[in-house]
Order: sequence, then structure tokens, then C-alpha cells
Amino acid sequence: MKLYSPAIVRQIIEKHKFHFQKSLGQNFLIDGNIVNKIVEAAGINTDDTVLEIGAGIGTLTSALAEKAGKVVVIEIDKNLLPILGETLAGCENVEIFTGNALRTDFDELVYEKTGGVYGKGQRAYKVVANLPYYITTPLVMHALESHFNIDLMVFMVQKEVAERIVAQPGGKDYGALTLGVNYYSEPQKVIRVPKKVFMPQPEVESAVVRLKTRAKPPALVEDEEFFFQVVRAAFGQRRKTLANTVSGLNDKLEKSTVAKTLSDIGIDPGRRGETLSFEEFARIANTIYLLVHAPGNN
Ligand code: SAM
Repeated sequence: MKLYSPAIVRQIIEKHKFHFQKSLGQNFLIDGNIVNKIVEAAGINTDDTVLEIGAGIGTLTSALAEKAGKVVVIEIDKNLLPILGETLAGCENVEIFTGNALRTDFDELVYEKTGGVYGKGQRAYKVVANLPYYITTPLVMHALESHFNIDLMVFMVQKEVAERIVAQPGGKDYGALTLGVNYYSEPQKVIRVPKKVFMPQPEVESAVVRLKTRAKPPALVEDEEFFFQVVRAAFGQRRKTLANTVSGLNDKLEKSTVAKTLSDIGIDPGRRGETLSFEEFARIANTIYLLVHAPGNN
């Protein structure tokens, strides 16, 4: 069922006496052109299993179901189930799971819903979503950090979040989210999306991003946890110099030793996090990690 008109969406919603819940980020797509762009960006064919986060009334779901072999959906709002029963009536290849995506093991769910063919230890799948904006960053990071067997993600997010994801060193948008997403994937901005393609209209502009998962990070990282500690410290206090933020990480780190160590690896200790490339962050984290764990320092 095609739901690409405000009149049809309104009709369905009124028929089922559905009330939008702002607290669940319920801004439904009503524009077929944008739906097609999202599906195109995911390059879906019948060989694909797609996991969708948040079905709404099934607008994107039905477009995905036309192209994919299987679509598995996680939707938190039980009130949408009767609507989905109607709008997805002809879609035999859609499986709906009611639950909170943030607390769901995507690999387990996909494994179960595909009879063990995709998911954990099996074939990789794609994730596509018009994300609920109140939890965009945690959901993106859950999908990435959990090392699920996903090869591609296409997400509609707030325009500002998209800009932070694809930012380059040196700008105000470049930060911990940029480094976090780039650690696990190669991000690309696909299109900007105006407010008017949603019902109800959100307060912010949106954009679609495409994240191709990486087999390994863009530079060698000896210790993932320590790398992110350095990144968080550098962006937690953006005005402080690197020598200050790095020496604050551990009691064993003297500021003068940190400054000399940074100079030795070709990094000016007076620089700030926002100027450092991924490779430079990795170089700093790997070297300082060795300093913290040097014999006699434990
Ligand atoms: N895909 C639909 C569309 O494009 O029209 C709906 C997108 S709407 C922006 C976000 C959807 O995510 C809503 O249906 C909402 O109920 C659902 N949702 C919100 N929080 C969720 C969560 N934690 N887990 C799963 N679904 C959630």
C-alpha cells in the first residue's frame, strides 16, 4: 500500500484513532520521492535482509519490502500494530518485532526471523531507518559499537547530526561523534531533507546518511577503549590543549612528559582536539597507552 500523501496518512490515522507521540519521535514520511531515495541509497535487492528501526505506519517498510528478500522491523509502539496489519497486509516478507531497538540484539533478532540465514555468524544484513530523533546518537552508536553483522546502514537523521557525522577536522561540527562513526564505518551524506516531507513536521531539517561498515578502523588502534578515552577527553574540554587533556587522563601522566612524548611523535602539544585527524588521534592514543602501561608504571 502506497502511503505517499498527507490525505491517505491522515485517513489511516483517523480511522485507527492513532495519536502521534512526540516523545517517541513519531514524524512519519509522506513523500514517495524521499522514500525512494532512501531505498536507492541502500542499494537493496532480493538477496538482502533489511532491518528497519521504527516502522511508523509502514511507509518506508512497504517500499523496502518491494525490493528486499526479507524486512525485519523493530517498533516500540504497540498502538501502531493494527495500522501495520492493514498497511502491510500484502507484504509476506515483513516480520514485525515489538520492542525497544536500543535494548535489542539486532544479530539475534535477524537470525531468529530469517531462520538462521542472516545475522549472528551468518550472512550480513542492512539497516535502514528514519530514526526517532530523541535517540539518534545512541541508536547509531548501538548499531555500530555492538559489532553486529551489518554491512550497510542508511539513516535519516537531524541535519546537524549528519553534519557532525561527515565533518572534517578543523570545523565546529568535528567531534567525538565524527570519530566514533568513522571508527566503525565510512560515512557519506546522501541528501538533505526538508521538514515538509514529514507528518507532523519536525522542528529541524533532516538529512540521509549512508554508513558502510569497515572491516577495521581507518588507522591502527592498539586499544579501542583508550582511543575513545583520548577522543572524549579532547572534545570534552574543547578549549584545552592536548597536553592538558591527555595528562588529565591518568595520574601517572605528567604534563611535561606528555608534551615531550607528543612532540616526539610529531604532534604539537598545544594543538586542540578539533584539529586532529583520525590517524593523529590513533597515533597519540597508541603512544600514550604505552606510556601508561610502561614497565614500572603499573
Ligand atoms: N519509518 C516510519 C516513517 O518513515 O514514516 C516512522 C519513522 S518515525 C521518525 C520513528 C519511529 O520509531 C516511530 O514509529 C516510533 O514509534 C519508533 N520508535 C521510537 N523509539 C523507538 C525505539 N526505542 N525502538 C523502536 N522503535 C522506536
